[in-house]
Amino acid sequence: MKQVAILGGGPAGAYAAECLAGAGLRVILFDEKLAWEKPCGGGLTYKAYNNYPFLIENSTPKRFIRETAIAAPQAGEAVLKLEDPLVIYSRLDLNRMLLERAEAAGAQIEKARVLEMARGGAGWRLRTNAGSLEADFCIVATGARNPLREVGTQLSAGDAMSALGYYVEGDQARIDIEFAPTLRGYIWIFPRCGHLSVGICGKGEPASSLRQRLERFMTERGIRWKGASFYSHLLPSLDSASWRENRVSGEGWMAVGDAAGLVDPITGEGLYYAIRSADLAARTLLSETAEKVNQYRQLLRRDFAAELEFGSRLAQRVFRGRFLFDSVPVRMVQFSRRSPRFSAIMQDLFAGKQPYSSLKRRLLRNLNGSLYDMGMSLGFSRLVPRKAG
Ligand SMILES: Cc1cc2nc3c(=O)[nH]c(=O)nc-3n(C[C@H](O)[C@H](O)[C@H](O)COP(=O)(O)OP(=O)(O)OC[C@H]3O[C@@H](n4cnc5c(N)ncnc54)[C@H](O)[C@@H]3O)c2cc1C
Repeated sequence: MKQVAILGGGPAGAYAAECLAGAGLRVILFDEKLAWEKPCGGGLTYKAYNNYPFLIENSTPKRFIRETAIAAPQAGEAVLKLEDPLVIYSRLDLNRMLLERAEAAGAQIEKARVLEMARGGAGWRLRTNAGSLEADFCIVATGARNPLREVGTQLSAGDAMSALGYYVEGDQARIDIEFAPTLRGYIWIFPRCGHLSVGICGKGEPASSLRQRLERFMTERGIRWKGASFYSHLLPSLDSASWRENRVSGEGWMAVGDAAGLVDPITGEGLYYAIRSADLAARTLLSETAEKVNQYRQLLRRDFAAELEFGSRLAQRVFRGRFLFDSVPVRMVQFSRRSPRFSAIMQDLFAGKQPYSSLKRRLLRNLNGSLYDMGMSLGFSRLVPRKAG
């Protein structure tokens, strides 16, 4: 392999560049902005920093969040203590740190927009706003708004959430998550480094309607949005059928991170999957196999894509389903507040320690206990005395 070109320098592209340059390949990375404050919470779960300790063991400014409150109308809120804190970075800082690591590993970093990629002989001819280049292999890491139509996932309306919000002054120690009737998503108040991000994501609903919901929420909470800086972006959220067809690789290229649609369809977590897919793409490229296209697809599937596909089937039930004669979000809040067992399951979901595929089994195993906890907290303990001793 003579020259690898990486298109996009967010977390996925930067980490792919670090892995490949570190293994001795000649790597050039193009990003039109280099490090920038991409609209994003910048939150890394335990799963992310446990698998990639450099994400926490560094001197880049960060903050640790140890509490999340989930709320739903008519259910109040439940506060979850996070035994494994969420680590929050400014995206400018996180991207810069990852690009610096890539450069230190030997990658050439260029500020340029890739305008076109065309097959040329056994490799590629790339045209950027700064010139042109021949490459033997391309890693596509151009994010959810991937402008290169021939490579990576092309997100249809059914495969993406709109995400929008405001950066407002203020601070709080916890993350607030609020579910709303008929919304296939949620509203958040996210404490960041130096400000709050108050936003909403939703599927199947126009951005204008999401914005109205958000502004109503902010007004009710007394959060001023007039004059605050507004952001909006796309969040991949593939439908279950789309996972099978997902275009993650082809002759001479592999897509990583958002450009391959690799985001948790329920939580919107994408940073871990950006880093992880970059890692798997690099391993595939460095391996001896000639069958790189299929090998990468299979590695992704085995590692986490099957789990995310399962999550996409679950998402509909989480946001819009019903359980015990009320909505799932309402029940989630009530159970989290009243049942320590259920609350522990929710904490593990937030930390990325509870796979969706075994969630049902764990919920059923704990259902009797959770209902018992609920009953006791509702005052049945006065009717049903605890066992002595
Ligand atoms: C509102 C919001 C909140 C989020 N919060 C979280 C969170 O708290 N935790 C979490 O885990 N995930 C979160 N996500 C998801 C997360 O932001 C993404 O999954 C993550 O950024 C994906 O990384 P990436 O490198 O694949 O893409 P990106 O970070 O989008 O990087 C793509 C890069 O490609 C560059 N680029 C694009 N086109 C070209 C081109 N033609 N030429 C050159 N460069 C180009 C861009 O400049 C950009 O730097 C959030 C997303 C949104 C929208």
